[in-house]
Amino acid sequence: MQIVVLAGGTGGARFLRGVRAAAPEAEITAVVNTGDDVTMHGLRICPDLDTVMYTLGGGIDEERGWGRAGESWTVKEELAAYDADPTWFGLGDRDLATHLVRTRMLDAGYPLSAVTAALCARWQPGVTVLPMSDQRVETHVVVTDPDSGRPQAIHFQEWWVRHRAALDPAAFVQVGVDAARPAPGVVEAFAAADAVLLAPSNPVVSIGTVLGVPGLREALVASPARIAGVSPVVGGAVVRGMADRCLPAMGIEVSAEGVGRHYGARSDGGLLDAWLVAEDDAADVPGVDVHPRPLMMSSPEATEALARAALDACTR
Ligand code: GDP
Ligand code: CA
Repeated sequence: MQIVVLAGGTGGARFLRGVRAAAPEAEITAVVNTGDDVTMHGLRICPDLDTVMYTLGGGIDEERGWGRAGESWTVKEELAAYDADPTWFGLGDRDLATHLVRTRMLDAGYPLSAVTAALCARWQPGVTVLPMSDQRVETHVVVTDPDSGRPQAIHFQEWWVRHRAALDPAAFVQVGVDAARPAPGVVEAFAAADAVLLAPSNPVVSIGTVLGVPGLREALVASPARIAGVSPVVGGAVVRGMADRCLPAMGIEVSAEGVGRHYGARSDGGLLDAWLVAEDDAADVPGVDVHPRPLMMSSPEATEALARAALDACTR
């Protein structure tokens, strides 16, 4: 069995762990958002790829949900002592080694997909981790500059990590997306899939960014497999993160129904054959099989059961 999962960082990684547990014999391919990627202190940082790799490889800080377990922050403190911008981004000492290896390989001319495979040789995540694209695509957020009162596009990381999503987003822009193509293996994975799952990742800045890569959405809907999505909105609120700040900017209601309708029915030009919502979230998404299921990834068992429910929704 071949399974493809579209994923962002924390929500995507946890869900992938459930898929791996629910289908241990399957070949699983994760197509991961790289719109959060950023260069800081000369290092190329890929937050969602690293979250997926560390989570599935057993190196994640479970409490924080990002970065390495047993992390120390000596380099960050030393950079701050130099007032070296940006001081607001958490770069751990252990994590730094990943960024050093990645940057060195990229500088030597390897594409991001090859670099990711090389990093995963250490972590053995048990799934094939693919960046959505080898081309550089960076999400920027259009906000009102508090000083000038004028619109300004800032990097997603600056909006989220520095400003804690406090600045109202007017739009999300994928810088570089026009020149992007799906990474090697992505189109092939959709074509060979028996099940395609949309993780309960951020519909705008994770799944939306992946779908924005020219050609990727077309390859997804051309898959012979059924496509099932899992709602990141439970009881009218996001479980964690800032999707509740992103969805209204796109005119999407913060509800399981709103996100389901945004993805839309595959039979009607959208993506979904099936949509998993929380048991208390009545959702009417025309043309889509709506499955009320427990949606909280609160334990390994609950996460595995959620993944199994999503896979079941692909087989009927
Ligand atoms: P990020 O890149 O780290 O922001 O992570 P993702 O985009 O992959 O996932 C963020 C989304 O995961 C948020 O919108 C959350 O609502 C959702 N999420 C986190 N935990 C859970 C959970 O236990 N159940 C569900 N259904 N969604 C979750
Ligand atoms: Ca992310």
